Amino acid sequence: MMARMHTPVSLSTPASTASPGRLAAPRIDWKQELAEAIRDPAELCRLLDLDPALAQAAAGGHRLFPFLVPRGFAARMRRGDPGDPLLLQVLPRAEELVDMPGFTTDPLDEQDARRAGGLLQKYASRALLLLTGACAVNCRYCFRREFPYAESGATPAGTTAAVAAVAADPTLTEVILSGGDPLLLDDPRLDHLLDQLESIPHLRRLRIHSRLPVVLPSRITPRLLTRLAGSRLTVSLVIHANHAAELDETVATGLTDLTTAIPLRFNQAVLLKGINDSVHALAMLSERLISLGVVPYYLHLLDPVRGTAGFAVPDSRGQELIESLRRRLPGYAVPRLARELPGEPAKVWLA
Ligand code: SF4
Repeated sequence: MMARMHTPVSLSTPASTASPGRLAAPRIDWKQELAEAIRDPAELCRLLDLDPALAQAAAGGHRLFPFLVPRGFAARMRRGDPGDPLLLQVLPRAEELVDMPGFTTDPLDEQDARRAGGLLQKYASRALLLLTGACAVNCRYCFRREFPYAESGATPAGTTAAVAAVAADPTLTEVILSGGDPLLLDDPRLDHLLDQLESIPHLRRLRIHSRLPVVLPSRITPRLLTRLAGSRLTVSLVIHANHAAELDETVATGLTDLTTAIPLRFNQAVLLKGINDSVHALAMLSERLISLGVVPYYLHLLDPVRGTAGFAVPDSRGQELIESLRRRLPGYAVPRLARELPGEPAKVWLA
């Protein structure tokens, strides 16, 4: 994961927006916001007026997979609520240290899907470019929480090799930028990569998988919008939000700005115990996404990664939830319930 750059600042800045019971969200440059992200569970617990015992319980998990939360994301959490659905996604848990049967470091066999440098190919016609291991937030349920990024080509040299492999394979028509979070690449590196991909004649589409529009919306800069809008490739964006409370007005503004640059916008969520495993929570998420012009595309069942068993929801419960959503929402607002199984030619849809 990325190097630590902890610079503690107050969340209550004059140029901030606050809603009752929540912390104030600072409006700053994205790199500065990332540098000032919270990297100590105890600090977040203090800011949210939570029991210090929660931070002590978090210490073990934090050592395994570092804690990282941008202040703008923390600002959407409710003060004094240890069950806040955003907090539960990011606060380390003591149970992460307990090995559970069936939960492994690479349950998707992604190492077997490596082709060249940072290029993974799991399915026909498209391939995944791992650009970095860094994220702006560390989600405790992450399926790549123990992924060996550096050894897997998520480096500048690995990207060069991956682009060459794409150029040499005319069966590939779509490249997916992934990580980590690909939008953490700075603009010059992103520009260079897009230039290279656009020069590959057989490439038609570019898909960006990023959680930054949700957790660090300041990354949606005019320069980024202009570059993406000018691409000859058909660009789509897949964001990652699990709960409607993640999608506040700063996120809404960024997503609205993205509308022209990227006409195709989707969301992928993970079904998470105690966070969004209710019809109400999922319906609210879908309603909010649709209102922001984002299609709720996938609801993933948890990948059984070591340390994440506490988030698992049974497949049968996921199917019940989707059936209930179908009775409540129009079809385009009901996500596909999906699980990725290594070796399958596509994701498996369970509903
Ligand atoms: S943003 Fe995505 S890749 Fe990064 S920690 Fe969260 S789930 Fe994992």
